[in-house]
Amino acid sequence: MPPELPPPPLRLTLDTDALVANWCALDRLSGAASAGAAVKADAYGLGARRVSRVLHAAGCRDFFVAHWSEAANLLDVVPAQEIAVLHGPQSPADATFARETGLRPVINSLHQARIWHEAEGGLCDLMVDTGINRLGLPLAELADPVIAGLQVDVLHSHLASADEELSQNETQRARWIAAQDHVQHRRASLANSAGIALGPAYHGDLTRPGIALYGGVPRAEMASQIRQVARPEAQVIQTKELEAGDQVGYNATFTANGPMRIGVVSLGYADGYLRCWSGKGAMLADGVRLTVLGRVSMDMTVIDLTKAPHVGEGDWVTLDYDLPAASRLSGLSQYELLTALGRRFPR
Ligand SMILES: *Cc1c(COP(=O)(O)O)cnc(C)c1O
Repeated sequence: MPPELPPPPLRLTLDTDALVANWCALDRLSGAASAGAAVKADAYGLGARRVSRVLHAAGCRDFFVAHWSEAANLLDVVPAQEIAVLHGPQSPADATFARETGLRPVINSLHQARIWHEAEGGLCDLMVDTGINRLGLPLAELADPVIAGLQVDVLHSHLASADEELSQNETQRARWIAAQDHVQHRRASLANSAGIALGPAYHGDLTRPGIALYGGVPRAEMASQIRQVARPEAQVIQTKELEAGDQVGYNATFTANGPMRIGVVSLGYADGYLRCWSGKGAMLADGVRLTVLGRVSMDMTVIDLTKAPHVGEGDWVTLDYDLPAASRLSGLSQYELLTALGRRFPR
């Protein structure tokens, strides 16, 4: 037996009650449509297995990942037929894998539709591009006979600007409605988290929230319904007393103007606490805000402990990670704040 590994100096607390409450709120806001869950990129960095298990138990029956490897990682967590793979079959090997596992590919092009036909694939989803010009079948190709031969469960499109008041939203919605007359399908889906707030005309049969499940607020009117889910925490690994004129960190960007107490926290840009937090981030201990001093480095960040004399080596501090506020302060998107959290945080 190898010796038991002691716990790491980083924790990522997932508030599963808040996660379930957010999914229930988004399901309710989706009206007659059901809410699914985007769990790609390891559920935005929070751990797709854990998130999918919790949401399945809460009643969620549609899960979206980008890569086949992400779907494979969930096969013993949720039924394969509830998982759709957004990037679709890029190769015959992907199509074979889908056939053998029962995972549902999202077909994004005539090329992918042909691959799926040649694999004698069955039920699939179809993504049509209504103006984002990213992944998805161009509307002009909808009439191709290879598309008519598909057995489509969900006819999807994806909004480019649902978090803004742009006429592009209505343009995309109208094209998605028109596409529904051209392809036989069981269900239709358009809205991501922000799209849910655009109202019933955008809901179809199924919505695909991601960021709002995890505490992100893409539109201000959703703020009262969405709770914080992820709380990263890190351990203080050393404390020090400074005097006026002492400097902190690489390139000495902070200089003490009087006696103060500082703490070295085991968290750095390698953990996703990027250098944009230098000199402006904050951590919390028992409600006290402890500001970041000087540059964030790879494995360490220094905080001001002057107002928290009770915090010592081995104590934990919580990152101020309310996503809308953290996004405004750091300049990172709410999505980046979550997906950047590094691998040294246990999931
Ligand atoms: C990521 C993604 C979503 C979820 O988007 P959020 O803005 O996180 O709610 C929905 N649909 C598709 C196609 C996606 O790629």
